[in-house]
Amino acid sequence: MATQAEIRDGFKFRGGHPALDLAATVSGRLGATPRDHLAGPGDLDRWLVASGLAETAPGAGELDLILARQLREALYRLALARAEGRELTADDRDLLNQIASRPAAPAWLGEDGRARLAGDAAGLLALLAREGVALLGGESADRIRQCEGPPCAVLFVDTSRKGQRRWCSMSACGNRAKAAGFRAREKG
Ligand SMILES: [Zn+2]
Repeated sequence: MATQAEIRDGFKFRGGHPALDLAATVSGRLGATPRDHLAGPGDLDRWLVASGLAETAPGAGELDLILARQLREALYRLALARAEGRELTADDRDLLNQIASRPAAPAWLGEDGRARLAGDAAGLLALLAREGVALLGGESADRIRQCEGPPCAVLFVDTSRKGQRRWCSMSACGNRAKAAGFRAREKG
């Protein structure tokens, strides 16, 4: 897949995994005023398209939005627990497993030879939950990190060879942190 922009349609895609990108639809989690970028069902539609899961807006409804937010918060807490080496809470695991057990959007090979996902928002969220299970319970779980650029809090999979990546984005949080360090040294 081609390299894609870190910000698409106003949403951050820096997690290296769709489950972590969903968690990033609340920004400023560690700050005083977190912001929910999934304010309405239309935002969920936009995110599903921006994430590449859907080609066109799947027509999400209020119930899909509630489900997406529940899934998102469970994924955030579980991934953060992984990043911090803590135990996973049963409630969050149960919720994730429950959503993952629902009928997921089926893959579909089109006339043009391209693979697509068919299905509505609920099916796409079920698929996302399954991918979340695979991430949290798979080999990459040890590579889940939280961005060190406060109050960013974006979670990402560290795919660097050394496994020492500190920021969700080198060009954004990484540069800010370096500039702040430089200023601090100058003041020294
Ligand atoms: Zn960051």
